[in-house]
Amino acid sequence: MQVRADAVVLFGASGDLVRKKLIPAIYQLALAGRLGMPVIGVARSDWDDQRLRDHSRDVLTSAGPVDEAVFGEMAAALSMVVGDYSDPETYKMLADKLVDSVRPVFYLAIPPSVFQDVVEGLHSVGLAARGRVIVEKPFGRDRASARQLNNCLAAAFDQPDIFRIDHYLGKESVEGLLVFRFANTLLEPLWNRNYIASVQITMAEAFGTEGRAGFYDGVGAVRDVLQNHLLQVIALLAMEPPIADDADAYRDEELKVLKQIHPIDPATTTLGQYVGYLDEPGVKKDSTTETFVSTTLEIESWRWAGVPFHVRTGKCMPGGATEAVIELRRPPRLLFTGHDAALPDANLIRFRLGSNDGLTMTLQAKAPGIATITQSVDLNVDFAAALGHRQEAYERLLDDAMDGRRHRFAREDTIEQEWRIVEPILDHQERPSPYYRGTWGPQALEGTDDPWHPVSI
Ligand code: NDP
Repeated sequence: MQVRADAVVLFGASGDLVRKKLIPAIYQLALAGRLGMPVIGVARSDWDDQRLRDHSRDVLTSAGPVDEAVFGEMAAALSMVVGDYSDPETYKMLADKLVDSVRPVFYLAIPPSVFQDVVEGLHSVGLAARGRVIVEKPFGRDRASARQLNNCLAAAFDQPDIFRIDHYLGKESVEGLLVFRFANTLLEPLWNRNYIASVQITMAEAFGTEGRAGFYDGVGAVRDVLQNHLLQVIALLAMEPPIADDADAYRDEELKVLKQIHPIDPATTTLGQYVGYLDEPGVKKDSTTETFVSTTLEIESWRWAGVPFHVRTGKCMPGGATEAVIELRRPPRLLFTGHDAALPDANLIRFRLGSNDGLTMTLQAKAPGIATITQSVDLNVDFAAALGHRQEAYERLLDDAMDGRRHRFAREDTIEQEWRIVEPILDHQERPSPYYRGTWGPQALEGTDDPWHPVSI
């Protein structure tokens, strides 16, 4: 049993991630009675304790009603340390605040360019030795920089105290893929190349860079989403059952399946950039950053050989959706021969992983009328209606890291495999193909043998 953290330190307290995800997560932990410890923000901005409290209140009230008693408890826990990350004084001030803490957790909600300063600063005052550290994705920019970052973290923290976030692993709907596969006798016997014709994974955003173009332009869709979130979804869909219920057993299986994925072939990959992207403030005028990527992965295993895993992600798509569609092989015609319209469509299993999460199975029923032909019907479950409230990913992950639970965090070797898979399409020199906002990517896709089923947006 790990010791629960007794303080949370948010580096980058004035930033976007803290505003969007971490302040709400801390409030939810307070609401659930799981906070009860100091929360210290660190930033260069000259914020005092009250500024952080006011900021937190604004963030929370803009999202909905706030329980005043709970917020009071949270506000009392909040305080600030202001300083530059390269200044040793910043860490001395932090160490003074944490003098009574035996197990602080440090969240690096800061640009990767300052990770090293912070890690070394924490090490220099002895805080790293007794702390846990949470690092955001993307972990590095490629294999070499991921190794470098890992070495930097490992020089200060013990490996089990390094928590690499891919928040998809914290999403109930994504974790639910494992439960659907391994807790339903209905599905698992079909889960292989004998019955599955293809897998299609889409993460579509209806919006563009939302004021974060400066950040996004240095990253792009492959590093922002494909290397981490989408490969994690594939790993969960394709891996073998873990041999035990511990963090390493899960990640061992993820590692095995990732190792079986071929590096992406640029020739069968489409990179796109939406029209208007280059005009956004913060984007380089000649930027080759992709805002869309579509590709097909192959898994060289007995279970999956020959089954294409189509993946795509993009900004400014016709709607927002995150889903995985499993297309089963079509049945033989037999009963329905003689009718051109009678070839039954494939069964589909559609996992909705985004805000409208749930499951839809598309089956074939007899179409009304004299002819014995089929019609698709949907069996649908909306998880919000069926299962009620579920925690947000960041709340779960922060709570996990506080408790030292690691199975929802990425491991060094799985991240290394993810970089190996995307390496051939990183750092391309050519301009990606243009596409208009509100479309499913570049024209280049049209006229090809489009494999995609319509997305439920
Ligand atoms: P921000 O750009 O908002 O930066 C966070 C804070 O870091 C800023 O408020 C700023 O605070 C400080 N900062 C910014 N630039 C520098 C710099 N050059 N040197 C020192 N401090 C700096 O980042 P985000 O909050 O968006 O992201 C934080 C981390 O989380 C990043 O690693 C990002 O990749 C990752 N991430 C972010 C997501 C998001 O939705 N925002 C999603 C997933 C991952 P101050 O000037 O007050 O010190």
